[in-house]
Amino acid sequence: MELIDTEHPSQFNQGLMELGALVCTPTSPKCLLCPVREYCTAFNEGNPEELPVKTKKVKTKNLHYDVFVVQNEKDQFLLEKRPEKGLLANMWQFPMLEQTDIEEHTNEAKLADIYKLELINRDQLMSFKHVFSHLVWHMDSYVISAQQIGDAPDNSNWFSIEEMKELPMPVPMQKIWQKFNLNL
Ligand code: SF4
Repeated sequence: MELIDTEHPSQFNQGLMELGALVCTPTSPKCLLCPVREYCTAFNEGNPEELPVKTKKVKTKNLHYDVFVVQNEKDQFLLEKRPEKGLLANMWQFPMLEQTDIEEHTNEAKLADIYKLELINRDQLMSFKHVFSHLVWHMDSYVISAQQIGDAPDNSNWFSIEEMKELPMPVPMQKIWQKFNLNL
């Protein structure tokens, strides 16, 4: 702070900007001409060219999913538990399947096959995107009426509305659930 003139603080900023523009440029710092060389840690440690360290930009990944709010004749809902490790570990979600370019409604057939369901009715619910730090989920959600006709995977189960209140569900799933309840 002693370096900054209290009456003319802008001169300090101006000086710093000029130093950065003319002397201490990112790729070729002119240390021999530099007025602050004596106080410069990078110069004293002998590595001014290596600074600043550039962090690699991580590319955002976009994933597209169909999400199904599946309701049975007892007004229970089908949910599955996410894996123990990784993103949103151990949280509960509505069945979600990655979209493919092949055919519309392919995922409904997959849903029926994986969870052993007979699908009775389908309505579109909402589409939105949910942004994680380096990942974007594009979600198209549907409400499906269905009947269980076989054994569903071990990580899935049917829950009543009351039981669902106790389950940890990721934010995008909560959004879908709120929208579903608004439509009732
Ligand atoms: S001495 Fe330090 S501040 Fe000056 S040009 Fe070199 S690296 Fe930049």
